[in-house]
Amino acid sequence: MSKVDPRRVFQTMNLVDGLIGAAAAAHLMPLTQGLAWIGLTQVALAGACLCPRCRLVGPVLTRAATARPYIALSFDDGPDPALTPWTLKTLKQYGAKASFFCIGTRARLYRQDVMAIARAGHSIENHSDQHSYRFAFLGSRALAREIDAAQRTLEDLCGQAPRFFRAPFGFRNPWLAPLLADRGLHYTAWAHRGFDTWNHDSDRVQSRLTRDLKPGDILLLHDGHSGRDRQNRPIIHTVLPQLLQELQKRGLTAVDLPTLFDLSPSTADPRLR
Ligand SMILES: [Zn+2]
Repeated sequence: MSKVDPRRVFQTMNLVDGLIGAAAAAHLMPLTQGLAWIGLTQVALAGACLCPRCRLVGPVLTRAATARPYIALSFDDGPDPALTPWTLKTLKQYGAKASFFCIGTRARLYRQDVMAIARAGHSIENHSDQHSYRFAFLGSRALAREIDAAQRTLEDLCGQAPRFFRAPFGFRNPWLAPLLADRGLHYTAWAHRGFDTWNHDSDRVQSRLTRDLKPGDILLLHDGHSGRDRQNRPIIHTVLPQLLQELQKRGLTAVDLPTLFDLSPSTADPRLR
């Protein structure tokens, strides 16, 4: 956990904006100059919230410093009754492990798929309860409800509490990090993503995922809300086998996040059964 509280950073910058506004209103500085400064800081604050890997909003994992030839695969937006079983079957064919960032509401709808992920030995992580477009605009209380509802659902289904959290669309606000720290959850983004929810070209998705790939990197794919290729097939059907073959070719092993970060169930988190 960073020593700098992101809430303080944002509150301080807003306070400075307030002082600039007051100084401009009192004609202590030109009004246009005051408004320009306020505009710039507000754009910078909004940009930090919309930047999935920005550390100004709180600590974020994108990769691990490791000497081992590991790549962490992560799948968002599931479970999906059509795609999750296919994803599990494909991972098994290649002896690969992954982390699944599940949405709480979908987990309650498709319980069997969540349990199948856990039974196959993959890790199940928290991707919020509703996957709301408004997530980055929620206050502390609503954010806590989003985290806790999904956490309860996923722990009830798999007997193990998630240890990693990813915000919907990767958009956060400074009130999220302290809530995650209180719950022992690690905020996780990615080193590479293929934009597989909307890109129609599987080769481009594949190349975005594997370009400059290094041991320790976290990759983001989707087993829910998958994009379609030009033949209208879920793009993951082409991308995942190609990706797993490429990792094997490069001597890289696909693992889940607890393995990448060396979290052992018995020592890292006493809540785990
Ligand atoms: Zn998502």
